[in-house]
Amino acid sequence: MQPQTVIFIGPQGSGKGTQVQNLMAHLKFLDSERSVSHIQTGQAFRALREEGGYTAARVLDLIDHGELVPDFLTNAMVVEQLRREMTDNSHVIFDGFPRNLSQANLIDDILVFYMRNQLSVVYLDTPDEVVRERMRKRGRIDDTDEVIDERLRLYNELTEPLIEYYQKHSSVRFVTIDGAQTVDQVKTAMIAGLEL
Ligand code: AMP
Repeated sequence: MQPQTVIFIGPQGSGKGTQVQNLMAHLKFLDSERSVSHIQTGQAFRALREEGGYTAARVLDLIDHGELVPDFLTNAMVVEQLRREMTDNSHVIFDGFPRNLSQANLIDDILVFYMRNQLSVVYLDTPDEVVRERMRKRGRIDDTDEVIDERLRLYNELTEPLIEYYQKHSSVRFVTIDGAQTVDQVKTAMIAGLEL
């Protein structure tokens, strides 16, 4: 099997986190020897709560208001993790990154540098009403109504244009999945779409 490079795109509450876990488990099942790098920017930022300090405080202020962390910091964290973990054979899953065009451009550079010529994009197409309902049930610390609205607004404005960006790339395998389906249905469609 070729090393897989997969980007997940979907709004908050589209089931991205769950399906990333499903994909990681499936890749481990197919080949337990191979490492899987999981690039999860949101989790990396939330972990700063324990670390403390001025940078952490600034980041947490943005997160708690549903704003995006600036690209320079987000990109630096992604690059640093890749620098530590990347091998010529590991699978890489991007989860919550890219969220805007400039971050997508960074991934383009990353793929060239690491000589990854096959990119897959899993798009969890999920209506606003479904994600709002799921977010209310999740009840994470940064999941108040206003913050949910702001994140959704930024998703529609900045992240959704990436769908067209990747659909236009002829070398990208673009997999669209109805995110309103059950977890198992989405998983089956994802594995089939990625031909794994
Ligand atoms: P998530 O866990 O992916 O929902 O991310 C939680 C929060 O972390 C987001 O609401 C943003 O404030 C911040 N964040 C996560 N990923 C990014 C990113 N790629 N660019 C900017 N901010 C991000």
